[in-house]
Amino acid sequence: MKIGIIGCAGRMGRMLVKAVHDTEGAELAGGTEAPGSAALGADPALLAGLNASGLKIGADAEALFKAADAVIDFTAPVVTVANAALAAKTGKVLVIGTTGLSAEQQKAVDDAASKAAIMQAANFSLGVNLLLGLTEQAASVLGPDYDIEIVEMHHRHKVDAPSGTALALGKAAAKGRNVNLDDVAQRVRDGHTGPRRVGDIGFATLRGGMVPGDHTVIFQADGERVELSHKASDRSGFAMGAVRAALWSAGKPAGKYDMRDVLGFS
Ligand code: NAD
Repeated sequence: MKIGIIGCAGRMGRMLVKAVHDTEGAELAGGTEAPGSAALGADPALLAGLNASGLKIGADAEALFKAADAVIDFTAPVVTVANAALAAKTGKVLVIGTTGLSAEQQKAVDDAASKAAIMQAANFSLGVNLLLGLTEQAASVLGPDYDIEIVEMHHRHKVDAPSGTALALGKAAAKGRNVNLDDVAQRVRDGHTGPRRVGDIGFATLRGGMVPGDHTVIFQADGERVELSHKASDRSGFAMGAVRAALWSAGKPAGKYDMRDVLGFS
């Protein structure tokens, strides 16, 4: 499968180029960067620490869709929405790792999935997808006497909060309790907040250093605490998962898919 990488000079973009190189059955179709980026014209393989590929980073996303069987996008919400429209136009597979989409941006992506296979996950690691399933199960078994708090820590460059993974964990916990996350989410606390509301799902966000992604779901009752944790030690698990998801999507009909489909958890 020929795979194109949008944002191929970014932190995840470079890992994705390497993951394509390291995965049997995957071949790099090319990469794009933002208009005006210093990486334009460079070889994406060299940037990823590999031998030269002869490819040059361009800014034309539509040309990349045409040259590839699947395109992977870990960039920014506004870029991802434009690429979802290109997936719909070309019928090519789009794998989305970008987080922080607004409800309106998410709807645009969902609409594009009527014309192309779109794979989207807030987190492509196997361990986090297992954690999502365990969180739903624990929330359903432990019930409302257990206060749920979700703590995440990421590197200092991350621009959205809480992380997409923390929100996905919140959704999984809410599903386990048969409630809607929007009705119970406490995304920030500041000042005189009053006591904790029964049934709330709280979020706490930490930022610093180079941390690729730590997530803990806490179930705190009066006499005990259960903690479910995942810590990524580097970004390679996300990149390998996204490439595996692209390969899995080959030949799938138009529609919305997620990592749990790939791993057979859903
Ligand atoms: P980054 O800023 O290092 O990389 C983003 C890249 O996209 C940059 O190189 C930027 O120049 C490029 N870009 C911007 N506009 C573009 C355009 N129009 N065309 C092509 N390229 C463009 O960020 P990052 O740390 O790699 O994270 C990117 C996204 O991926 C974030 O939303 C982050 O939360 C998400 N992420 C998701 C997962 C997951 O498993 N789903 C894992 C890690 C990061």
